[in-house]
Amino acid sequence: MSLIVQKYGGTSVGSTERILNVARRVLATQEEGHEVIAVVSAMAGVTDNLLGLARGVSSTPTKREMDVLLATGEQTTIALLAMAINGLGGKAISLTGAQAGIATDGDHTRARITTITPDEVHRLLDDGHIVIVAGFQGQTPDGRITTLGRGGTDLSAIAMASAVGADRCQILTDVDGVYTCDPRVVPNARKIDEISYDEMLEMASSGSKVMQSRSVEFAKKFGVIFDVCSSLNTNPGTVVMEEKSHMEAVVIRGVSLERNQAKVTVGNVPDQPGFAARVFRAIAEAGIIIDMIVQNTSEEGVTDISFTLNKDELARAKEVLVQSVGAFSSDSRVTSEEGVAKVSAVGIGMRSHSGVAADMFSALAAAGINIKMISTSEIKTAVIVDEKDVEAAARTVHDGFGLGDKDFLA
Ligand code: ADP
Ligand code: ASP
Ligand code: MG
Repeated sequence: MSLIVQKYGGTSVGSTERILNVARRVLATQEEGHEVIAVVSAMAGVTDNLLGLARGVSSTPTKREMDVLLATGEQTTIALLAMAINGLGGKAISLTGAQAGIATDGDHTRARITTITPDEVHRLLDDGHIVIVAGFQGQTPDGRITTLGRGGTDLSAIAMASAVGADRCQILTDVDGVYTCDPRVVPNARKIDEISYDEMLEMASSGSKVMQSRSVEFAKKFGVIFDVCSSLNTNPGTVVMEEKSHMEAVVIRGVSLERNQAKVTVGNVPDQPGFAARVFRAIAEAGIIIDMIVQNTSEEGVTDISFTLNKDELARAKEVLVQSVGAFSSDSRVTSEEGVAKVSAVGIGMRSHSGVAADMFSALAAAGINIKMISTSEIKTAVIVDEKDVEAAARTVHDGFGLGDKDFLA
């Protein structure tokens, strides 16, 4: 008998009909002769509603209370799914993250899993149960409820699969797998059969929200092979695994887009050792995560430093910078631009192929799309464009690399 961990995301459990669909699917998996652990998200929209409720009562809710609130979304789903399975004649039992043995650090709203002690999970499986686990949540050693960051049920499922030594881990969602770009933006995007951890990680961390990036990091670290597939059909999905030599033959595996970015420029910075460090130390101490950084060539001893970040962090970043910049040079100034977005082309084949950046920029130029910033890594080339251009840019880059072509080796 093999042990399967299945993760069902918010849309897949978004209504009572969908929960019944999941119940039947889980039962069918058990009837095929497997033990099943189902790790589930809050019903679609519930986490956003809870966030809205919190904003309605306070502009500064503590993160501890946010976690107590947000964890209720997943707790609703586990109970409903267990009831649905039991109602169909199965034997299921629900467990919160804490009951399932998921221990985390105390970094509320973005906690890290420290250990999983799945003794209770094993005991219930041995007793013939289907075990339903609340995703996205855990508990600190001193008993505080924590959550794992948006999309965190992916991480709960992959970490649980690793802890119980599952034979298979399936991420079931509302698309048939990982596509060459978000199929809602690029209609001719194609499903990818196999993708390496590194490519999936780059795509996830540059905006492809089909997987939470931390979950992919975890899977890579612990060698958890997982499938991404649909909860609504039985089409083969995408296998995410360690890279294989043939994978490098494909130069670009996929294109990601990330909206809601902002650009900050600190102008007139003295071109001397230590100033960049002071700018980014101030940002880091405020806990703000930044993305691309560009420093211009210096003229007459001064230079400009620009960086991008999520739009939601902009106000705080400007506040922090005005204080720190003012402290080291009265002439320095901070300016910002909203309404920008990022498009990234990702592929491990980039390591051994030249000309990717040239091809990407030429495609964007031919479409009349202006590039505002550029960054590259070994397996990614990314550009910042106007947010109004982002979908056109994604389609242009996607088509420019022939990812939608029928004979493409996805
Ligand atoms: P779940 O609720 O199951 O966790 P998500 O909404 O988090 O599902 O992720 C699935 C969504 O991710 C899809 O509906 C799709 O719009 C989006 N998406 C973004 N990039 C991709 C991609 N490259 N391949 C597939 N889906 C993608
Ligand atoms: N419910 C959480 C969210 O909406 C976690 C998840 O769905 O994975 O982010
Ligand atoms: Mg998700």
